[in-house]
Amino acid sequence: MSLSKEQIARYGRQLILPEIGMRGQEQLARAAVLIVGAGGLGCPAALYLAAAGVGTIGIVDRESVALSNLHRQILHTTDGVGHPKSRSAQARLVALNPGIAVHAIHDGVTAAGARQLFAPYGVIVDGSDNFATRYLVNDACVLLGKPLVHGGVVHFGGQVMTVLPKRSACFRCVFPEPPQAGAIPSCQEAGVLGTAAGTVGVLMAHEALKLLAGFGEPLTDRLLTFDGRASRFREIPVRRDPACAVCGERPTIQELMTIDETVCLDPQPKEGAWHASKSR
Ligand SMILES: [Zn+2]
Repeated sequence: MSLSKEQIARYGRQLILPEIGMRGQEQLARAAVLIVGAGGLGCPAALYLAAAGVGTIGIVDRESVALSNLHRQILHTTDGVGHPKSRSAQARLVALNPGIAVHAIHDGVTAAGARQLFAPYGVIVDGSDNFATRYLVNDACVLLGKPLVHGGVVHFGGQVMTVLPKRSACFRCVFPEPPQAGAIPSCQEAGVLGTAAGTVGVLMAHEALKLLAGFGEPLTDRLLTFDGRASRFREIPVRRDPACAVCGERPTIQELMTIDETVCLDPQPKEGAWHASKSR
């Protein structure tokens, strides 16, 4: 594959970075990324991945655009309210970069469908807004061996981590158990600032670009947290857990299962602080 004149002009400022160059740009053009959720994290992540020339982007989201999404979900417009988020996102991304393929999947991620959904994609970017999806996406990535970029945001901050299955800590290694059923706070009540979601979402795209173009050092075995009140980043070392239910020595999860989606409590981290991510 060689780049066209138009592509060389479009990507010129990143092509001249020696760590990317023609090789990295061609790798991006051949790459396929699935973004789970066209929300506060998925929107900025998708914009930068499309702008950078990731050749195929899938967007899976079963919701439609609401007015209350627009302060942070920057792919969508006022005119798009009521329309499926996946298609609103697709239209915006194709307008930004007509040279890439964008697949809109107006659906949720399910235990039954995840294998088939994830199969065409090399990297999964999880911008989902609920723990059921988050654990399911993590488990699917580990079982399928797909690199995962995890992100979460709530209030003024959030966190990012990259998972290379069986090589670095997975989401379950850090947060072993999904929240228990019981008191169930509304996922919509937590509140979030758009710029916090944007900060985390852009970091997620950045991590994906590193994996795809093969430069830098992936954010593995480190949970990067962003405190948007103080504008402070912190790095929490994490490690693979030999007892992890999905990537450990004797995994008990060998098939995907659905977790009760109405549950939205904070899981307890094994170590360090955890910025709960109930909203995206
Ligand atoms: Zn694990």
